Amino acid sequence: MSSIRQRITKMLSEIEEPLTAEDIARMFEIDVNEVYEHLGHIAKSIRRMYSGKKALVMVPPRCRKCGYIFKDLEKPKKPSKCPRCKSEWIEPPRFIIKNI
Ligand SMILES: [Zn+2]
Repeated sequence: MSSIRQRITKMLSEIEEPLTAEDIARMFEIDVNEVYEHLGHIAKSIRRMYSGKKALVMVPPRCRKCGYIFKDLEKPKKPSKCPRCKSEWIEPPRFIIKNI
């Protein structure tokens, strides 16, 4: 695990409220796409490290226009468009590491 990944992992374990990838990007001064890539890896390594006792929890993205919730995302990302109303006004997913 690279050190930035470790730092993001530590930070996400210590926060009280979930953060968006944009928040994380600002804190670590990296690109948002890079954050999503790190989160994908972090999700896997957390499962391995804590044998399922801790997890990277994703509060799913939500359409701000019609309220549609993107529940079945395979990977952490922000969808570009709502499948129901086609709005692009999407509330981004938020992330936190929790005991489960
Ligand atoms: Zn919608």
